[in-house]
Amino acid sequence: MTELLPRVGQGVDVHPVEAGRDCWMAGLLWPEVDGCAGHSDGDVAAHALCDALLSAAGLGDLGAVFGTDDDRWAGAHGADFLIEVRNRVAAAGFRIGNATVQVIGNAPRIGKRRDEAQQVLSEAIGAPVSVSGTTSDGLGLTGRGEGIAAVATALVFPVA
Ligand code: MG
Repeated sequence: MTELLPRVGQGVDVHPVEAGRDCWMAGLLWPEVDGCAGHSDGDVAAHALCDALLSAAGLGDLGAVFGTDDDRWAGAHGADFLIEVRNRVAAAGFRIGNATVQVIGNAPRIGKRRDEAQQVLSEAIGAPVSVSGTTSDGLGLTGRGEGIAAVATALVFPVA
């Protein structure tokens, strides 16, 4: 019955920081933090979660589902993507077990609003989402504040 085993997926996203842009991260708006450039709201945490869920369900990746040439998703929020992904995962015959995402960057400081972020993202996918943050100790594009990265893992179960 291997078809009923749980399936894991992972996702990674990186966007450049754009001075003066609203910062949407992990489903929340972070005042006074420079946000990420992007076709959508630049929420790398939500994007990485979407890719992890799509990967776990064998549904490809974010670029294939939400093309940057599709105006429906211009400026879309992370939670909008997650709700669409949740529906696609369900339509493919899977239930989401849980997911986790870690944001890598100097700002925003995820720990300050972890509970709020977890609540928003968990509601979006209908399953528990753990949110964490870290820095790269001044190293690389995240350490220099040029970009923000996120890494996510998701677990899904086939619905019998
Ligand atoms: Mg992205």
